[in-house]
Amino acid sequence: MLTNLTLIHEHMAIDLSGPKKDLDCRMDLLTDGLQEIANLKNHGVVRILDCSNRGMGRDLKQVLELEKQTNIQILFSTGYYKDPFLPSEVDELTVDQLADLMTKEITEGIEGLRCASVIGEIGTSLNVITPNEEKVFLAACIAHKKTGAPILTHTTLGTMGDQQVDLLRKHGVDLDKVLISHVDLKNDFDSIVRLLNSGVNVGFDTIGKNNYLPDETRLDWIVRLIDLGYIDQLFLSMDITRKSNLAVNGGIGYHYLFDTFIPELKKRNITEDQLQRILSDNPNRFLGGNAV
Ligand SMILES: [Zn+2]
Repeated sequence: MLTNLTLIHEHMAIDLSGPKKDLDCRMDLLTDGLQEIANLKNHGVVRILDCSNRGMGRDLKQVLELEKQTNIQILFSTGYYKDPFLPSEVDELTVDQLADLMTKEITEGIEGLRCASVIGEIGTSLNVITPNEEKVFLAACIAHKKTGAPILTHTTLGTMGDQQVDLLRKHGVDLDKVLISHVDLKNDFDSIVRLLNSGVNVGFDTIGKNNYLPDETRLDWIVRLIDLGYIDQLFLSMDITRKSNLAVNGGIGYHYLFDTFIPELKKRNITEDQLQRILSDNPNRFLGGNAV
């Protein structure tokens, strides 16, 4: 059985309902999915990274209560998402001020409750990096260099990953402390290999979102990337952000990763040991410590 696992790209509380004009995009799991999170322990999950940040409906009070009730450790994130979800402070503050704010959340804590573990998910738009998104990336580089905190990025439909890497590299970020998310939303295997060759980590973190890319393709690509020797740079997660995605509401639910996707990997000769590396060793290394 798999043990000591971390889900690297999830949202324990998120609210994108304003710009998206859809109340389905407001979810907090203490209210909407407590049992579903608690059940993850049966699959070996001990820790989840909450990728919600400033302006995304991050809610430490709710989520710390969720942590207490489920006994699954939750880690928190600092930074800003992407246009049009950026709060006005991104426009108003300088890059240095934004970096100070992130640094403070990493070293002193968020609202006096818990320190942020990761700068993420900081994002770029479809096929473009907007000026305010670039500002957030530059601030993240400064905060990363000051604190050593890893950076987790959002790519919109898998685009602009190369440009993100160029920007981060140019500003002195350790690329093995970078995780490029959502590479599994774009039908372009070679672009993933290119990212991996730069030294960054990549997230197959929208598992089950077959309307963007069929899981059949995700499965094939993961097997191929393992064969090519990239296993230590691969991460798996589901990125559930909508109430309707929860099992209790008839959605696919977090258990899909364990009940459906992982058995398919095993059918393709991926071993328990390899899965343990992807879902436990890789997050531990990226986050700089074992789950407690
Ligand atoms: Zn994302």
